[in-house]
Amino acid sequence: MKITMAHGSGGRETSALIEALFASRFDNPALARMEDAAVVEGAQRLALTTDSFVVTPLFFPGGDIGRLAVCGTVNDLLMSGAVPRYLTCGFLIEEGADTQVLERIAASMAQTAREARLSIVAGDTKVVEGKGGVYINTAGVGFVPQGRELGAACLQKGDVLLLSGPLGDHHAAILSARMGIENAIRSDCAPLGEGVFALFDAGVRVRAMRDVTRGGLATVLNEWADRSGYAVHLKEEALPVSQEVRAFCGILGLDPLTMGNEGKFVAAVAPQDVSRALSALRSARYCAEAAVIGEISGADEAGVLLHTRLGGIRRVPPLYGEGLPRIC
Ligand code: MG
Repeated sequence: MKITMAHGSGGRETSALIEALFASRFDNPALARMEDAAVVEGAQRLALTTDSFVVTPLFFPGGDIGRLAVCGTVNDLLMSGAVPRYLTCGFLIEEGADTQVLERIAASMAQTAREARLSIVAGDTKVVEGKGGVYINTAGVGFVPQGRELGAACLQKGDVLLLSGPLGDHHAAILSARMGIENAIRSDCAPLGEGVFALFDAGVRVRAMRDVTRGGLATVLNEWADRSGYAVHLKEEALPVSQEVRAFCGILGLDPLTMGNEGKFVAAVAPQDVSRALSALRSARYCAEAAVIGEISGADEAGVLLHTRLGGIRRVPPLYGEGLPRIC
């Protein structure tokens, strides 16, 4: 079935579409009441975030826009130290979109939400004129345990940086799909809860975490350097990049440091906790290739400094300009 403007009317077709596509798949008590707002349990410190997803193509090796829309918001909640609990989703659907495509997206979102252990409790659909495109906005709510404070302001001299796995996979997978290049590269799109909770469960003193998305590791670490006033030192030989992505970057002249991932995070931890942190991470799903990649040093020199394989030191700027559009 094709989406028509009638599906966006707010009338019977809209209700039927929502019931058939989304409500049946996202089913949970808060959503099932179908009131104007979901009422949910919770009286703790809240984390809130929202993100919009416009990726093209909608389906790509290793994921799809639905999985991405859940993971992107879940991972941002996790990075603030929150336990993700609730998600809302808004669909902007262009006239002519195929309901089979929407079904695949909804099924993927439901499966990813189950994996990430949160409920999709509210949503909206709008149909607009266009050529069959689909865009999704998600907002997430999580609870932050008392006493847990994370962020650039908590960074300390001597903190060690861990990266949860290889750089560049999502970016390279999208670019390959867009260019029609056949290779083995798959998006790393994944919810990062297992790795994050493994760190906390192991008692690791985590100072700050960021997921490495658009703009890449270079952009995230420059933000840490700017906000903390400390220098971030990276060891080039320690940066995990898969062979396939490295070869792909070599051909196209791309730098894995500015490429986006959708299932990787960087954590700054107390130096005494590094070995515990590394083994906790490596035993968690999606984090088996976690590595120590650098450290935070004193305020004598700010910015991000890469210690190269050849023994030199190079300043790493954040990503400037456009990068690859519609990657997420
Ligand atoms: Mg983020």
